[in-house]
Amino acid sequence: MREAGVLLVDDRRENLVALEAVLEPLGVDLVSVTSGEQALRELLRREFAVILLDVQMPELDGFETAELIKARERTRHIPIIFVTAISKQPDHVFRGYEAGAVDYVFKPINDEVLRSKVLALVELHRKREELRAQEDELRARETEEVRREEQQRYRELAEAMPQIVWVSDPQGRATYYNGRWFAYTGLDPDAAGDRDWREVVHPADLRVAVERRRDSLETGEPFEVEYRFRRGDGTYRWHLGRAVPVRDVDGAIDHWVGTATDIDDQKRAEEAQRFLGEASSALGSSLDFHSTLASVARLAVPAIADWCAIEMLVDGELREVEVAHEDPMKVPMVRELRRRYPRSDQARVAATGHAELVAEVTEEALRATAVDDVHLDLLRDLGPRSAIVAPIAVRDRVLGTITLVTSTSERVYGQRDLALAEDVARRAGVAIENARLYERVEAQAQAARVLAAIGDGVALVDEEGFVRLWNPAAELISGVPEQNAVGRRLEDVVPGWRATDDGRPETMPLEVGGREIWLSISGVRFDDGTVYAFRDLTDERALETMRQDLVATVSHELRTPLAAIYGAAVTLRRRDIGLDEELRERLLGIVVEESERLSEIVNDLLLASQLDAGSLPVTIEATDARELTEAVVESARAHLPEGMSIDLTAPASLPHVAADPGQLRQVLDNLLENAVKYSPSGGRIDVTLELRADALRFAVRDPGLGIPAGEQRRIFEKFYRLDPDMSHGVGGTGLGLYICRELVRRVGGKIWVESREGEGSTFFVELPLARPRARKESVAAA
Ligand code: ADP
Repeated sequence: MREAGVLLVDDRRENLVALEAVLEPLGVDLVSVTSGEQALRELLRREFAVILLDVQMPELDGFETAELIKARERTRHIPIIFVTAISKQPDHVFRGYEAGAVDYVFKPINDEVLRSKVLALVELHRKREELRAQEDELRARETEEVRREEQQRYRELAEAMPQIVWVSDPQGRATYYNGRWFAYTGLDPDAAGDRDWREVVHPADLRVAVERRRDSLETGEPFEVEYRFRRGDGTYRWHLGRAVPVRDVDGAIDHWVGTATDIDDQKRAEEAQRFLGEASSALGSSLDFHSTLASVARLAVPAIADWCAIEMLVDGELREVEVAHEDPMKVPMVRELRRRYPRSDQARVAATGHAELVAEVTEEALRATAVDDVHLDLLRDLGPRSAIVAPIAVRDRVLGTITLVTSTSERVYGQRDLALAEDVARRAGVAIENARLYERVEAQAQAARVLAAIGDGVALVDEEGFVRLWNPAAELISGVPEQNAVGRRLEDVVPGWRATDDGRPETMPLEVGGREIWLSISGVRFDDGTVYAFRDLTDERALETMRQDLVATVSHELRTPLAAIYGAAVTLRRRDIGLDEELRERLLGIVVEESERLSEIVNDLLLASQLDAGSLPVTIEATDARELTEAVVESARAHLPEGMSIDLTAPASLPHVAADPGQLRQVLDNLLENAVKYSPSGGRIDVTLELRADALRFAVRDPGLGIPAGEQRRIFEKFYRLDPDMSHGVGGTGLGLYICRELVRRVGGKIWVESREGEGSTFFVELPLARPRARKESVAAA
């Protein structure tokens, strides 16, 4: 640094020259300026030890200049000596001191005095500068000391910290590790090199760690990663590694400070929690416990184990459900191990119901377990390090075991892991129990569904005789809804109920809701009561009745003509009495007539059975109803009894009907025959044809017995007769109207009767008209 100089200020050059001459011998820098402004400017530029200032100057005079100098912080301390010729008077001098002068030099100048004054001030300045330099140096030394102390303190702090701490250079090379690092890793402090951290990171975590570190070194972003560090004893623990760059004043990275915090417990707890969550939801996800247990085993690896085996007790023996291994190639090995050799640990746990923990599986333990060399080899290959066997149990019943083993992860199980395994096993037990319960409920539901669907009525009656179950079929058959049956006594639900409970069916009529039903009931006793199954036989019963009716009617109907034929034949064969020709003819006539009647009955039976079976062919064609009716009436007239007549009324022209002509003829024959048959007092029968909207109506009116209103529908039923006992002496099979109804129905027509008892009857038949085209054809044919 340049030494501070002396500033000479005077508006007159010659004065400046004189001053320079006086001070020159001092050997200090002299800077001369000719105005106050210049002086101020010069003062900005460099350091001065003293200023010699002329008082009388144009523009800024000496006092004013001095005041400005004193007003500035940087120049305030510079001593000013006023140089003046004029004013020795005291007030003038006083003003100079006020403006900051340290001295006055009056002209003519005493060279010696001026020189010594200036010298003294320059010296003073020099001294002060020296002092200041010394002070700076002192301060720098002190700072350095403090820094060293601080660093020391930091180191001590780093050493005292429970975390691993390191420092590395900007390129990531470690320059410092704290004691914790060496204590944890077991590495030699003197051999600690750059590669060491990589050697202790778990191989599975290394790639990510190296990548993150590289990114941070490139970008200067803080580094953060979770990785496992190998401890001195070979086990791995999770650490959270963090490093931040420390920058110098220019912002460049000076070094990195890193820490690694042991988060193993936390991490394991998190993992355990997550596993537990996943396992629970897997266990709850399905009722197929085999597959859920299998998924639990797969979740356990690698979350909490390197391999996991789940076994279930079947008939007292442990059977494998699932084996999972971190290395899928090793699954067959584990299987082999578990299949070929006794699972003594699992068997023991299954027997006691207590979980077992082997924190460290030692070589001795392996040897003690192995039954032979192959076994020992297998065990060694799998290299178990730590193991837990927990019972899968529900209440006190053990259902199986879950085995967790660590090997390559070098993880060592502790009490917390044991508790976790027990927890999972317990949950598995509950899941299995649920699945089994569900199966049972499902089976019950199935049974209930069967009961609901079955066609037989089923009633369950408890020991006290109260109905406990009343299925839908029971409701349907009895007409008693479930809510009116359950909880009541069976005798009250179905009055007159009496049934054995020995399983043999009994058939009986019961009065239910005002109607008679026939039930076949069988009852079976069981522990809590009796189950009755019953079936409605009412229809079967009706059929049975009908069959009996048939036999009765038919045999009766057949017997009458047969008797007549027999009587005639026997008489004809007699030789003892002389039969005249006329009698012979009459007898033969009876044989023929009654034979015809017999064949009619047989035909009716045949026809009815064909109609029942749906096997009667129908040939529908456009039929001329008038022509056909005329023919029917004509042939009926031929056999009319005395006192009867038939009238036919029909419009001259009628459209054709769509019918089977042969069958239509039979219907009309039948109606006419009945009209005659049931008009014992004779009279006129009216047959009319009438065109309705789109049908042709046939009407056969007789003056006969008539039919009571309540029977008018029933007479069309099979075998139904108003007068089965034939009190009027009129026989019949009761098939005629049934056949009529079926034949009419088959061509889309209708048949009904209108009648008043004792006032005759009118039978109506309506048939659809034939379609126009068919009619035309038939007209053309005619
Ligand atoms: P069947 O005449 O062989 O007895 P049907 O089926 O033809 O059988 O008739 C059934 C019953 O209807 C007859 O038994 C009779 O009682 C009654 N019935 C049928 N037609 C008449 C009628 N025109 N007048 C009075 N009753 C009749």
